[in-house]
This record gives sequence, structure tokens and C-alpha cells, in this order.
Amino acid sequence: MHSDVTVFVDRDGTLNEDPGYLSSPDGLVLYPGVVEAVARLKQAGCSVVLVTNQSGIGRGYLTRTNLQAIHDKLENVLMKGGGSLDGIFFCPHLPDEGCDCRKPKTGLIHQAVETLKVSTAHSYMVGDKQSDMELANNIGAIGVLVTTSSVSHEAIKAEMRGGLHIESITLTFSDAVEWILQDVVKKQ
Ligand SMILES: [Mg+2]
Ligand SMILES: [Zn+2]
Repeated sequence: MHSDVTVFVDRDGTLNEDPGYLSSPDGLVLYPGVVEAVARLKQAGCSVVLVTNQSGIGRGYLTRTNLQAIHDKLENVLMKGGGSLDGIFFCPHLPDEGCDCRKPKTGLIHQAVETLKVSTAHSYMVGDKQSDMELANNIGAIGVLVTTSSVSHEAIKAEMRGGLHIESITLTFSDAVEWILQDVVKKQ
């Protein structure tokens, strides 16, 4: 069991298709293999924590109630597959509000550490965007980039040449989990 390992996970473009400001549970479409992959992490004893920027709330595209409904559905689907999330933390703010929780800022991680008593000492951050990988660097987590979404990975690779550190680039969330579980074993 790897009870000291925390896996921080982005939502849109990582676990589910990103339609741009997902606003209702009906629009939640998980990528293939995600349910099983979350279950595998839980079975291995990892903490799994969702950290997501939801500026659609600040923009008025969805309410906190809508977001809660989406997350209720997500947790239900995961639970049916034998998995679960230890916590869900979101930033509702606009990019120009100057909050301390919009990724790549570290506020969501601090909230998770305080609320769940998880540790970042041996942690991973899985996401599809540069901001996720910058967050990984900011908290000393191992960054794992997934390339399932339509985000331009060329730009991210250019950032890597400029010093952004990404430990692994994988295709899907399933692949990311596979890689993480091997990496955990290697580091024991
Ligand atoms: Mg994303
Ligand atoms: Zn925020």
C-alpha cells in the first residue's frame, strides 16, 4: 500500500472531455479507462485529489449548484467502478481576480493539505495543461502530462525547453496511472 502517496488530478481534458465550461452533469463524458484507473490508484492506497479551475463560475456560465451536480455525478460513476476521490477542490475565480487558488497557484493544494491531511512530499500532478505542470513544479510534485485533450503540446514542449519540468508525458489518464504506479514502486 502507498498511503503516503498523493495523486492530484486535473478534471477537464484529463478525466473527462473538455467542452469548454462544462455546466451540467449531462455533459460529463469521462475518457475510456478513467473509472478503472481511479479505482487502481485507490486500491494501491494512494490519495486521489481533484484540483480544478472553474472560472466559468466567475464568468456566470455555471453556478456552484451546477458544479456540485457535476461532481456528484462524477463521484457516483467513480464509486460504481470501485474508485473514489478523497477530495475535490476548485477555483471559481476569474484569471484577473488575483486569487491564490487558480492553478498554477498553489491555493487548492494548501486547502487539500489542510482539509485532508494529505502530503505533497511524494505527490504527482496529472493534467493536460501547462498550468497543471507549472503547479506540479510549484509544489514539488512529479508532473505527468496527458495528451488526450486538444491543448497544444508543442507550446508545452517549448516551455520545457525553457525550464518547465515534466517527468512523464503519457497519452491517457490510464497510461498516467500505469506510469505512476510503476514509479511509486521504483521509489520505495
Ligand atoms: Mg484540464
Ligand atoms: Zn481562485
